[in-house]
Amino acid sequence: MDMELSAQHKEAQKIFREFVKQNITPTAAECDRVQETPMDLIKTIADEGYLGALVPEQYGGKGMDPLSWGLLCEEVGHESASLLSLLTVHSMVIQAIVKWGTEGQKNKWLPRLATGETIGGFGLTEIKTGSDARNAKTVATLKEDYTSDEKTSSKDEGTAQFYVLNGRKRWISFGQVASLFIILGQLDEKPTAFLVERESEGFSTEAISGMMGFKSAMLAELRMDDCIIPGENMVGRPGFGFSHVIGAALDQGRFCIAWGSLGIAQGCVDACLSYTNEREQFGVSIKEHQLIQEMIADMITQTSAARMLCLNAASLKAKGDPSLIMETSMAKYFASRAAVKIAGDAVQIHGANGCSDQYPVERYFRDAKIMEIIEGSNQMQQIIISRYGYQKYQMSKMQEGKK
Ligand SMILES: Cc1cc2nc3c(=O)[nH]c(=O)nc-3n(C[C@H](O)[C@H](O)[C@H](O)COP(=O)(O)OP(=O)(O)OC[C@H]3O[C@@H](n4cnc5c(N)ncnc54)[C@H](O)[C@@H]3O)c2cc1C
Repeated sequence: MDMELSAQHKEAQKIFREFVKQNITPTAAECDRVQETPMDLIKTIADEGYLGALVPEQYGGKGMDPLSWGLLCEEVGHESASLLSLLTVHSMVIQAIVKWGTEGQKNKWLPRLATGETIGGFGLTEIKTGSDARNAKTVATLKEDYTSDEKTSSKDEGTAQFYVLNGRKRWISFGQVASLFIILGQLDEKPTAFLVERESEGFSTEAISGMMGFKSAMLAELRMDDCIIPGENMVGRPGFGFSHVIGAALDQGRFCIAWGSLGIAQGCVDACLSYTNEREQFGVSIKEHQLIQEMIADMITQTSAARMLCLNAASLKAKGDPSLIMETSMAKYFASRAAVKIAGDAVQIHGANGCSDQYPVERYFRDAKIMEIIEGSNQMQQIIISRYGYQKYQMSKMQEGKK
């Protein structure tokens, strides 16, 4: 794996950095304070084509390569983890449709997701079902002969099949504004994924505020009370919803979170290099104190290690290597953990200033903690990674036995 960025990727990184500096940095702290992301800002991101980054070109997107996408996530994560989560959940819906959608679903939704006309949301977690998401309690029932009126598009298209969904989804990033959600429910007790439009009959949302981090990620609870969706809105097959459809989306989500965590870590390093240079105590700048140097050295080393895991995941993704899933889990696990440690040290280095919203490190600190919880908590990653380790060990033993 080549650690050096190509000239093309360096150029892409420069463009992303400039875009973020001009459009995201100036309002990131204020958005966090008021717990809101202005629609204008989402439109600016969409107009740049970044919401369509992962939509294949044939459906109107940029078809961006994995490394460029990772670099974009890093730059956005560097300034606003909340906005990174917009890119994350939106791209998760895109990934689910690209990988498992029907041609009809692709033709209908991908062009709209590419332009940002449709904002995607990811509806997995429920009040009682978090890490054990496969056992979501939301229930879908297939009905035939919907006769009450002409509300379902399936009826418009001449098929009378539709689904009725009942359940709640909680902590849904950008649930206040997203217009198309991928929802996991149980159909005949089989985990099944569905596309649910905000406009669907029986669908409503309630805003959630007061989070520790991701404050401007406009979280919501999604409510489906006899929510009616067209028969063609099932994604994949019954029973494949978690293992395949949501699995593909989560894999994409972890990739974004790994790179976004790297962005937070790098943001902390940058802030600390500047602060320790300026701040003086005991007659010298604090960078002269060896205990500060120790923290800086650890921050830089851990950021560099996180970067290597992210680059590795991007390289495997570009090749379509099956080990990508595990390596992405490792990148997410390591980078988010490193971000928490690094952001904690960044606050320490800033002293009281680090506890104040006049400096960005307190926000980085709050946001970093969320990275350890979302897209599969770090305990879930540890379980997956250790299983993978044992599998590899057993395979190598079997191969040795064959020799
Ligand atoms: C800011 C924010 C945004 C979010 N956005 C979304 C979103 O857009 N869409 C969405 O669907 N969800 C979203 N979530 C929810 C998130 O995915 C869940 O919080 C996460 O999956 C963990 O579930 P939980 O909070 O219910 O914790 P639980 O599953 O209840 O776990 C509690 C603790 O127990 C640990 N644990 C659980 N099981 C095991 C086990 N077998 N072994 C060891 N430890 C275990 C967990 O790691 C955790 O530390 C968001 C959450 C936050 C905070």
